[in-house]
Amino acid sequence: MATIKRALISVSDKSGILELAQALTKLNVEILSTGGTAKLFRDNQIPVIEVSDYTGFTEMLDGRVKTLHPKVHGGILGRRDLPEHVAAMKEANIPNIDMVVVNLYPFEATVAKPNCTLEDAIENIDIGGPAMVRSAAKNWKDVAVLTDASQYANVVSELKSTGGALAEATTFALSVAAFNRVSQYDAAISNYLSAIDYAASMANNQPVTHQFPAQSNTNFVKVQDLRYGENPHQQAAFYRDLYPAPGSLVTAQQLQGKELSFNNIADGDAAWEAVKSFDTTACVIVKHANPCGVALGATALDAYSKAFQTDPSSAFGGIIAFNTTVDKAAAEVVSKQFVEVLIAPDYTAEALAIFAAKANVRVLKIALPTGGATAWEQGRNSHESKRVGSGILIQTADNHEISQSDLKIISKKQATPQQMADMLFAWRVAKYVKSNAIVFCGNEMTLGVGAGQMSRIDSTKIAIIKAQNAGLSLQNSVVASDAFFPFRDGIDALAEAGASCVIHPGGSMRDEEVIAAADEHGLVMVVTGIRHFRH
Ligand code: 5GP
Repeated sequence: MATIKRALISVSDKSGILELAQALTKLNVEILSTGGTAKLFRDNQIPVIEVSDYTGFTEMLDGRVKTLHPKVHGGILGRRDLPEHVAAMKEANIPNIDMVVVNLYPFEATVAKPNCTLEDAIENIDIGGPAMVRSAAKNWKDVAVLTDASQYANVVSELKSTGGALAEATTFALSVAAFNRVSQYDAAISNYLSAIDYAASMANNQPVTHQFPAQSNTNFVKVQDLRYGENPHQQAAFYRDLYPAPGSLVTAQQLQGKELSFNNIADGDAAWEAVKSFDTTACVIVKHANPCGVALGATALDAYSKAFQTDPSSAFGGIIAFNTTVDKAAAEVVSKQFVEVLIAPDYTAEALAIFAAKANVRVLKIALPTGGATAWEQGRNSHESKRVGSGILIQTADNHEISQSDLKIISKKQATPQQMADMLFAWRVAKYVKSNAIVFCGNEMTLGVGAGQMSRIDSTKIAIIKAQNAGLSLQNSVVASDAFFPFRDGIDALAEAGASCVIHPGGSMRDEEVIAAADEHGLVMVVTGIRHFRH
């Protein structure tokens, strides 16, 4: 049981603090406070003693030294159950401080601001705050430590119900929360400073970060709480990297529409990452993380119309991404469809006016990365992670790019330049389709996408069925497969459907059988030597 008679309150974020102080005053708790906090209390007629009056030591060095004093730390740290401690405190005239209410200088929020200078960042490293939090958290049996406004109400209600005491279970939980907060705070500082390129920063007179250092990738900044997770019974929040890659989804500006949901963000990312990988005008439509239509076109409208044709029924309620400005012509046609989220680097004023009439559509604007030497500057994430039971898998991102010179034709039949270009397009799309991925393409658009099946032959069959459902011909189409064909059955099926070329990594135990099948059907077969599993 911790009996609360004296509290030290020193907070940067002052939300909820007046209500807490008023409740403590009613419970006859004496309040000590630092400059800004004490002033707020005085202005609101709450009795308060300034820490500087209490210690007899005036705050100095622009607030760098406010509470770093033996009378403060002795008062917090002294053990009430040890006679030697009690005697030593009496001797030094140090009264007990039973509660510490501290939230820290806003370091994370400061460095998240685009124009934060190194000096601003350094000045926002709190020293005395974490010291008091740690002192109080260490002495949790007798001292309560509150580090977040969300804790105030429960603590007040327990104090009221007991007449001014807190159970050990409560002060222990507060102590754990306090150490968590301090460790998160220190991680933010260490990640921020680790990422600074000292020489470049000095030369530019502002903080310049290294190419995203992998070890800094552990620090995230909360963007928002989400209404719910993948399903309504799951809670969720959205966090971004401290240093998001330029042109990544988290840099999006939402121009209109309902709040983004968990699934919108996940699917939006899939659509945006795919569309921005194309160098010419492209449109990608995503449903449940898989592209259901991808096409290149002369204009945004052309690319959209082709992408939509692949699978009109799946495109309903989809996420549509463009790598080019959406103009009036595209907006008029897109707005006829039920769209969840629209993403593009820009929109014309006429296009925005058309979407404004559909208030629910979430319209996101994301500047394309302007480029640079590193993958990060080019807008590519350095790492990907995946949560597994009580652990995490981390890998470098699948940023592999192939060019025509990497391709090897292994069939008897040779490819035309047009077929080579079509295969490169299909291969690029397959990279963004969940495995097993089979993608039929022709005329720079997808014709049938088989995704996420447990066997490659099933993905092949599904892609064919989908093309048939959409009324698209697979005659002379090209097919990409994200991994090798383990058996010849997939080749037989795609040849029968009308395909003329197939691109895949190769490397199956039965490659010979697979190549023989291609030759039998008169197919062009090209291998890439690398695969693009996506799970
Ligand atoms: P106030 O607005 O009351 O003047 O300042 C409150 C802030 O000062 C809190 O965020 C608290 O963590 C911080 N703080 C308290 N004591 C010290 C200290 O001795 N040094 C530094 N740098 N910050 C302190």
